[in-house]
Amino acid sequence: MLRHYTEVKAQYPDAVLLYRMGDFYEVFFDDAVEVAPVLEVALTARHKGKESETPMCGVPHHALGVYLAKLVKAGYKAAICDQVEDPAQAKGLVKREVVRVVTPGTLSDPELLDGGRENLLASVAWDGAGGAAAYLDVSTGDFWVRRWADREEARADLRLQGPRELLVEETDEPAGELATWIEKRGGCATRVRRDTWFDPRKAGATLERQFGTATLRGFGLSDEDDGDRPAVRAAALALAYARETQKSELPHIRGLTVRQPDDSLIVDDTTLRNLEVFENQRDGGRRGTLLGVLDETVTPPGARLLRDWLRRPARSPAAIENRLEAVAELAADEPLRRRLRRHLRSIGDPVRLLTRAVLGALTPREAAALRGALETLPAILADLAAVRSGFLAEVAAVDPMPGLAAELTRVLAAEPAAKLDRGGVIRDGVDEELDRVRSLARDSKKHLLALEEREREATGIASLKVKFNKVFGYYLEVTKANQALVPERYERKQTLVNAERYVTPELKELESQILSAEDRQITLEREHFERLRQRVVDEGEALSAVGREMARLDVAACLAEVAARHRYVRPEVTPAGSAVVIEEGRHPVVERLGRGDFVPNDVELGAGDVVLLTGPNMGGKSTYLRQVALIVLMAQAGSFVPAKKASISAIDRVFTRVGASDDLTRGESTFMVEMVETANILHQATADSLVVLDEVGRGTATFDGLSLAWAIVEHLHQGSAPRTLFATHYHELTELAAMLPRVSNRTMAVKEWDNRIVFLHKVVLGSADKSYGLHVARLAGIPAEVIERAAEVLGNLESHEYDLTGRPRLARGNAPETGVKDQLNLFAPAEEVVGSILRDLDVERLSPLAALNLLHSLKSRFNE
Ligand code: ATP
Repeated sequence: MLRHYTEVKAQYPDAVLLYRMGDFYEVFFDDAVEVAPVLEVALTARHKGKESETPMCGVPHHALGVYLAKLVKAGYKAAICDQVEDPAQAKGLVKREVVRVVTPGTLSDPELLDGGRENLLASVAWDGAGGAAAYLDVSTGDFWVRRWADREEARADLRLQGPRELLVEETDEPAGELATWIEKRGGCATRVRRDTWFDPRKAGATLERQFGTATLRGFGLSDEDDGDRPAVRAAALALAYARETQKSELPHIRGLTVRQPDDSLIVDDTTLRNLEVFENQRDGGRRGTLLGVLDETVTPPGARLLRDWLRRPARSPAAIENRLEAVAELAADEPLRRRLRRHLRSIGDPVRLLTRAVLGALTPREAAALRGALETLPAILADLAAVRSGFLAEVAAVDPMPGLAAELTRVLAAEPAAKLDRGGVIRDGVDEELDRVRSLARDSKKHLLALEEREREATGIASLKVKFNKVFGYYLEVTKANQALVPERYERKQTLVNAERYVTPELKELESQILSAEDRQITLEREHFERLRQRVVDEGEALSAVGREMARLDVAACLAEVAARHRYVRPEVTPAGSAVVIEEGRHPVVERLGRGDFVPNDVELGAGDVVLLTGPNMGGKSTYLRQVALIVLMAQAGSFVPAKKASISAIDRVFTRVGASDDLTRGESTFMVEMVETANILHQATADSLVVLDEVGRGTATFDGLSLAWAIVEHLHQGSAPRTLFATHYHELTELAAMLPRVSNRTMAVKEWDNRIVFLHKVVLGSADKSYGLHVARLAGIPAEVIERAAEVLGNLESHEYDLTGRPRLARGNAPETGVKDQLNLFAPAEEVVGSILRDLDVERLSPLAALNLLHSLKSRFNE
C-alpha cells in the first residue's frame, strides 16, 4: 500500500496526498509531519517491521471538506486519492486513483468558496510581442483573456483581479518573473511542466476542441500565428490545468471573451484602495466602504456581479444608460421591487450549482436548491412581463426551463436527505421497483418487530430483543438469567458477559430480505439521481443564462433599493469631453456614518479644468475629493448617485494619489510610493481622465515638495489636461490660478470664533492662507507646551526670520545672531535674494567660519 502511495505522490509532488483508507484519508511521510498541525490532528506512526516507522495522520472521510478548507487556507494544494472500486468486490488491494486535485485557484466546493466573490485562476504567457493572461473561475465557468503590453501593465492588472493562483509554464521566463513577484506578495503560484495533459504547441486546438469551434476568431482572438500566441497559450494552459485538477472535461466552459481596458472605466487597484471601494484602510474589512453601502444584493451571483460593475464600470454612455434605465424603472416601482427581491432570495447560485453537477459533486440538497430556483423563476418572469427598459426586457426573455423544473419536482423528494448513501432522495411514485423495495425495507422492519413479539410469547422471555450490528447482522439477545428458557431451534452466535446472542432461520431470511431491499433501494436512487444530474448538465447553457440574468436583475434591484433608501438621483452620463457637474453631491459612505449632518457640495469640472483646494486640516478636503471620484465611479457603474443633480462626462480612467503609505514589502519609502504613483498619473492621464491628488509632495522637504507640486499642476494643465482636483496645504500654489487659465481656487469654509474655529465643510470660491494645523493638533491632545512652542516657531516663520543659510530661524536663546533678515521668497530671482541678504548683513559681527558658510550658501543659490 505504501508503495502505491509513494508512486501516486511522485505524480503530485507539490500537493499533499490524501489517501483513502477505510473511513479515513491518510497522509504519510514528511507531508504528514508538515500538515498534522495545520489540520489540527495527531501525528501518529504506522509500523512496518520492528525498526521502521512511518509518520502518518488522518482525517475522517465524512469531514473532508472541513480539512480541505484548512489546507487551502494555509496555501496547500491537496490531491485526493479515492477508492474507485467497491471494497466489498475488490480482489486484493482496492483500486485507488486521484479523483481531484484541490488548489486555491480551482475551487468549486461551497465550503471553500466565498459566495459573494469570484475565485480566479490566472494563467500567464509571454513572448517577444508581449504578454497575456487568461482568467478562469472554475466555479462559474467565467473565462476571459487580457493582453498586456508590458510588465507594469501586467502587474497592475494582476493586482486588480487578485487571482487566488497564478499559473505559468516552467520554461516561460518572463511569466516566471510574475510568478515570483506574486509569491513575494504572499500569493500562490504554480509552475507547470509540459506534460501529457498540456502541450503548448496544441494550445489553439485545445481551446477549439473545448468550445466546439473551428477557429478562435469568434471569441475575438486572432489565431496563434497572427500574434495572439500568448493569449491563446495562456487560455489553453488555464483550461488544461483546470481539467487536470478537476479530472473533468468541464463542459460548462464553452467560450471565452477578450477584455481590453478600453471597454471600461479603468480604476486601478491603488484607486480602489484609496477610495475604499471594497476594503477599508483601517482593517481591510467591508465597514465604511462603498460596497458596504451599495451591496443590498440578495443572491451570491448578484453580489459577485456588483463587485464586477464597481471594478469595471462602463465607459460608453449607451451601456451606462442601459443599466440606469433598469435601475430607474425599479426605483420608481416599490411594490415590484419588493416582490422581485423577495423572489430572488430563492434563486441562490444556479451557476455554481451547475458546476457542481458538471463535476459530479452535486448533492441532493443542492439539487433541491436548484429546484427551488427554477420553481421561483416563473413568478419573477411574470413580474417582469410589463417592463419597459431594454435591460429588464432581456432578463424577462430568459428561458424559464419548465422541463428541468418539472423533472426536478417529479423525481426529487420534497426534502431530500443530505447524502445519497442512505436513500431518501427520490420521491415515491417515480419508479415502481424502487417503491417496492422501499416498502419491503420499511415493512421488513415491521416484520422484525412482529418476530420479536412472537418469540417473546413463544419463549416467555419478556426481555428478549432483536438487535443489529455490522458484524453479525440481526440477532436475538437473551440475558444470562433467561438462558434456561431458550429453545433448541435457536442457534448460538456469540456469548457476552451478561447475555447470549442467537439467530433463527426465520430471522436470517428476514435479514437477507431487508438488506437486499435497502441495497437495491440505494442503487436505484443513485441511478435516478445520476440521471437528474446529467439532465442538469445537459441543460447547462440555459441554466447559465438563468444564473447570469438573475444576477443582473439582482444588481439592478439592489441599486434601485439603495437609490430609494438613500435619496440618490439618476445621473446623466454625457459623451466624453463635456463637463462633470455635480450639484449638492454627498460622500456615499461618510454621509451614512455621520448623524445626518453631512454638508453637500457642488463641483463643476470642464475639460482640462484644475481645481486647487486649500483649507484647514479636518476641513473636509479629502472627503470632497473622494466624493467626486466615487460619484463618477458609481454613475458609470450604473448606479444612482448621492447628489441633487449630476451630469457626468464619460471618464476613461480615474486616478487618485491620496495620503501617504509605505509599501515596505516593495522596499519603497513613503515618498517613493508617492512619486511612483504620481509619475504613473503624469504618463497615463488623458483629456478624458479624472485625476484626484490629495497632498502631493508632502513626504519630502517643504521646498522640494512645493516645487514638485507646482510643476505637476503646470504639467497637467498644459499637457494631457485631465480634469483635476488637487488638495494641498501649500498655499503658495494658489498663485497658479492667476497665471493659468483653467486653474481655479476653492477652499473649505471655516468660521473663526472665540479663538477657535468651526469647520463648515462647505467648498467655496477662493483660497485659504492658513491650515489651522496647531488648532487641530490641540484637538488631538498634543501637550500644551508643544503647542505653545509650535506657535512661537510658527510666529518666526510667518514673520520671515531666517538664518544665514536661508533656513527659517527656529532656535531660541543664544543662537549666533547675524542680524540677517531674509525676505526669502522661493520664487524670487537669486540676485534679489542675495542682494537683500548682503544689504542687511552686519559684517563686523560675523565670525570667519560663519562668513565662509554664508559665502557657500550664497553661491549655491546661483547653482540651483
Ligand atoms: P486633512 O487636511 O487633515 O487631511 P481634510 O481637509 O482632508 O483634512 P477630511 O479628512 O476630508 O478633512 O474631513 C475631516 C472630517 O470632517 C471627516 O472625517 C468627516 O467626518 C468630516 N466631514 C468632511 N466633509 C464633511 C461634510 N461635507 N459634511 C460633514 N462632515 C464632513
